Amino acid sequence: AHSPSNTETIVAQATAAGRGGVGIVRVSGPKAEAVARQMVPVALTPRTATYTTFTDHHGEIIDQGIALLFRGPNSFTGEDVLELQGHGGQVVMDMLIDAVLNVEGTRLARPGEFSEQAFMNDKLDLAQAEAIADLIDASSKQAARGALRSLQGEFSTAISQLSDQVIHLRMYVEAAIDFPDEEIDFLSDGKVAGDLAAIIASLAKVKADARQGSLLREGMQVVIAGRPNAGKSSLLNSLAGRDSAIVTDVAGTTRDILKEHIHIDGMPVHIIDTAGLRESADKVEQIGIDRAWQAIEQADRVLFVVDSTRTSIIDPYEIWPDFMARLPAGIPTTVVRNKADLSDEQIATNSVTTAHGDVTVIGLSAQTGEGIALLREHLAQTMGLDTTSEGQFIARRRHLDALDKAQQHIDNGHYQLEENMAGELLAEELRLAHQALTEITGEFTSDDLLGKIFSSFCIGK
Ligand code: GDP
Ligand code: ZN
Repeated sequence: AHSPSNTETIVAQATAAGRGGVGIVRVSGPKAEAVARQMVPVALTPRTATYTTFTDHHGEIIDQGIALLFRGPNSFTGEDVLELQGHGGQVVMDMLIDAVLNVEGTRLARPGEFSEQAFMNDKLDLAQAEAIADLIDASSKQAARGALRSLQGEFSTAISQLSDQVIHLRMYVEAAIDFPDEEIDFLSDGKVAGDLAAIIASLAKVKADARQGSLLREGMQVVIAGRPNAGKSSLLNSLAGRDSAIVTDVAGTTRDILKEHIHIDGMPVHIIDTAGLRESADKVEQIGIDRAWQAIEQADRVLFVVDSTRTSIIDPYEIWPDFMARLPAGIPTTVVRNKADLSDEQIATNSVTTAHGDVTVIGLSAQTGEGIALLREHLAQTMGLDTTSEGQFIARRRHLDALDKAQQHIDNGHYQLEENMAGELLAEELRLAHQALTEITGEFTSDDLLGKIFSSFCIGK
């Protein structure tokens, strides 16, 4: 269904570089069987493990191990595939690859090329191919489970069901257009409006699920801001659970941005500790400040740390007007009243409160850890992470953008129906919505995008 199949045969090490008990060299393409004849002294029965020696082009034995042949289309890539499972040392692996490359018509695989070939041969759709990379890169058990569900087609099925709904309605509307006398009757008989409402509801459900899925993969960015000595580095350490940031009594020692990765219910949370953020004549310090602002502008939330032993003020605008003035609108702020263990005031560390309309306030002690669990819970909640939901699949930013685009067209179509009874315009919007959905599964995807997606995979995948 995509480009014509490879005429070249590709080879790469499928297992990680370095030492391992077993290392696997994978060969895919029309010459896979010729490679087997050259390197393996016995005939291979497809899909049957054969214990054998592997020889180079001089007939010298390189290693012994398991050879496996899969004939296309019943293989991962859909082409003939040969796997040589030898001893996992780099020299052995390199010698095996060299021996394969000695067979004419073979070359080294590009990153992600095996998966790309599987996609080209319709063994996987694009969302499933991406899920392979996401499964390999998964940073938590939940992310791995979600990636496996996407790989098994749960996300793709949801998308194709939605696509089917859109196509059916479009066909119905187009049929109505072909009978101009009855068009208005067709459009106003309630079926079109009803189907459109069903599509809007399905799309909303898929979008919510995909958003959860993308949280599993991309996580949230949190900035820890505040005056020197408020306890920013201590809070970072406490959230991260180890001493990564430098905690010190001297104001202004945290010069550069520090990023920590933690997980909350399987969601990666990227925490950015900021430099002092004061105007500074010091060049090095100024670079840190500029970088900090770049990170702040992309944050999902700011944790504004205040030293509760020094002030009872909880309005960030009052504490640090310059910072708040520069903070892009729409980035929500949580005020963290730190050092609850020292404060004369009774600081509640067991509940989240709201002040000044939209500012959330939470009391804790970065030192003793009191209130830290509540903060973690609060962060998960603000991202709308549904920790109880089973059956989550993984999704990427790209998928969310495509779903947004589809929704925009459905909304436009809805408007054309309601306001103008314009069947033709509705049909066109449905066509565009369907097209946006196919970007996710890759039915009509530009080579540029495909190149970008697959080149980010590792070699041998
Ligand atoms: P930063 O400049 O905002 O990064 O602040 P630090 O994390 O370096 O903390 C400044 C000082 O306050 C250090 O001496 C910390 O040990 C102390 N500190 C930070 N948080 C707490 C807390 O919750 N309780 C107490 N008692 N001391 C804290
Ligand atoms: Zn991370």
